[in-house]
Amino acid sequence: MKITYIGHAAFAIESEGKRLLFDPWIKGNPMAAWTMEQVKAWKPTHIFVTHGHRDHGFSEAVELTKEGLGKAVGVFELINALTEKGGKGIGANIGGRFFLDGMEIYLTEAQHTSPYGVPCGFILKLEGKTLYHAGDTGLFSGMEILAKLFDIDMAFLPVGGHFTMGSKELPLAAEMLKAKRIIAMHYDTFPAIKLSPEDRNLIERRAEFIKPGETIEV
Ligand code: ZN
Repeated sequence: MKITYIGHAAFAIESEGKRLLFDPWIKGNPMAAWTMEQVKAWKPTHIFVTHGHRDHGFSEAVELTKEGLGKAVGVFELINALTEKGGKGIGANIGGRFFLDGMEIYLTEAQHTSPYGVPCGFILKLEGKTLYHAGDTGLFSGMEILAKLFDIDMAFLPVGGHFTMGSKELPLAAEMLKAKRIIAMHYDTFPAIKLSPEDRNLIERRAEFIKPGETIEV
């Protein structure tokens, strides 16, 4: 499985012939390592959108799925809004487990807001591995329950603070989730989420930083 950090909360994952995008904010994203042309040439098969804020790629998901590039996955109301704009997708809701094209998918809660329904996170089982993309969220005690339901191999967690959890909450999240690896996301893109050297040190004790454009194989 190949995991590429596009930047901010956007990731591209290649696994068993599927090409999955997460929160593909590309247009106007100062951290984006990929352009829309590159995203289109990559031909995504599934586009996971955690919530409707601009920096999580809802409008990119509309554009891509409208052009026949994959299908979006998200909460019911977000997918309804997306299909009303001509896009294509599959809606579900928090705590729901379902199967799609050979993947097991589970929508988690996220302590945040969204213009469409509620925000969510995604847990996915791929190639026998369990991945958790938390979306935008503050720390929440339900992370403990997620660890009881899933043996999480890799968690993508926001660390920038201000709009989401940050460096002080990360150790608690790591303790609750018991994820084998944690990748940091949602930091440094705007002044409000710029990490101080102290934040960075705290985060590095529990999570890994990968650079936008960098690919890891797991
Ligand atoms: Zn948000």
